Amino acid sequence: MPMNDKFDVIIIGGGASGLFLVSQLPAGVSAAIIESNDRVGKKLLATGNGKCNLTNLDMNIVHYNKPSIVEEFLDKFDAHDTIATFERMGLLTKVTDKRVYPYSECASSVLDVLRRAAEARGTTVFTGRFVNFIESFNDEFTVGGVIKHEDKPNEAFKLMSRNVVLATGSPATFGKNSANLYAAFGHAERAMTPCLAPIRTDKEPIKGLQGVRVKAGVRIGYRYEVGEVLFKDFGVSGIAVFNMSSEIARGRAHVGDMLTIDFMPEYSRAEVEEILHKRVGGAKTVAQALSGTFHSKVQERIMFAAHCSAEDNAVEKISALAAAIKGFKLTIEGLGDASLAQVMSGGLNPREFDSDLMSLKVKGAYAVGEVLDIDGDCGGYNLQWAWSSAKAVATAISKSLL
Ligand SMILES: Cc1cc2nc3c(=O)[nH]c(=O)nc-3n(C[C@H](O)[C@H](O)[C@H](O)COP(=O)(O)OP(=O)(O)OC[C@H]3O[C@@H](n4cnc5c(N)ncnc54)[C@H](O)[C@@H]3O)c2cc1C
Repeated sequence: MPMNDKFDVIIIGGGASGLFLVSQLPAGVSAAIIESNDRVGKKLLATGNGKCNLTNLDMNIVHYNKPSIVEEFLDKFDAHDTIATFERMGLLTKVTDKRVYPYSECASSVLDVLRRAAEARGTTVFTGRFVNFIESFNDEFTVGGVIKHEDKPNEAFKLMSRNVVLATGSPATFGKNSANLYAAFGHAERAMTPCLAPIRTDKEPIKGLQGVRVKAGVRIGYRYEVGEVLFKDFGVSGIAVFNMSSEIARGRAHVGDMLTIDFMPEYSRAEVEEILHKRVGGAKTVAQALSGTFHSKVQERIMFAAHCSAEDNAVEKISALAAAIKGFKLTIEGLGDASLAQVMSGGLNPREFDSDLMSLKVKGAYAVGEVLDIDGDCGGYNLQWAWSSAKAVATAISKSLL
């Protein structure tokens, strides 16, 4: 049975940005969220390894692909505003290395307060509904699609509103690409490609390392970062690698380029040689010189990279070992796919939206969060964009209606 209802604003997507947006609307504004999953906030629950790194006190625009655009929104709503707003909604937060988490270290606490806020202001939440069209006529929007049923054929639905917000995120892990819903309004979309994602590399140098996690330096071109590296059978993952992956997504590094891992980032090459010298007394072998310093499997691959065997005389191999420890070379073969990515690069061009993120093509149509071509580093930057962009739209819609 088709359904008809009218709202001041319909938000398509019940993820981070959509939920935050309704929480910031006054109760006098009638709002509906339409979510295709059977519950809202599914991706949010997976953020920060289930802990949800909701923002970062080092909120520098250099962490974003389009700093000048993001700056405008962070000026109005930054990390401190995020903390204060969430705390007002009942979330206790804590800071670890500038990264902000819920005190509970449970992403579900963030989702709980958002859901409570949406409920408290009387938001209508439709789940299990996939939006497949939006039409605009006479300053009014019709949003329609299908209601997903397990046991019977899908049913069509239609809702009306004065404003519409596209908050559909990206196809990264659990997500969908619904940016093309605004194609009907003349908006172009830059193809979405994995951005914060594992990096596929040649397999031989990392043979046997699958599952090993180290703190190391990672370099691609001029960019270098120290952080967690997790070895996979297809390449490397972990926070430092995820941040480096944007070099590939943004076209600054390519297939065939080198990624190097520094297994002793605290020391210079000369210091590593000195450390090895000190460990080598008399006729020590390479294995004896390295043992107790690295994970045994890492040690094995360092020897492989230095072209030496465990029994070789360490004194003769110090220079080659230090080179392998400080510059363990992998050849980039590409990025892991969307199902492994945290964020996608691409989406709707933010320059086709005004400073309130309202479409320059259709009045009353807005976009927030990751569906826009804005992406940030690991560390709370992507959720901060979701909050800041949603806050800007909530403020604009409230002003226009009340
Ligand atoms: C594993 C993982 C860990 C992450 N960890 C962090 C972290 O710790 N910190 C951080 O800052 N960022 C993190 N991110 C990134 C962050 O989660 C996203 O940038 C953020 O969720 C984007 O918010 P959004 O509202 O734009 O999209 P989403 O949160 O993805 O929400 C979009 C919603 O729209 C729905 N939808 C899509 N199309 C339709 C349609 N046609 N009809 C109806 N509904 C639709 C989707 O089902 C989804 O629920 C992580 C991402 C992943 C995948």
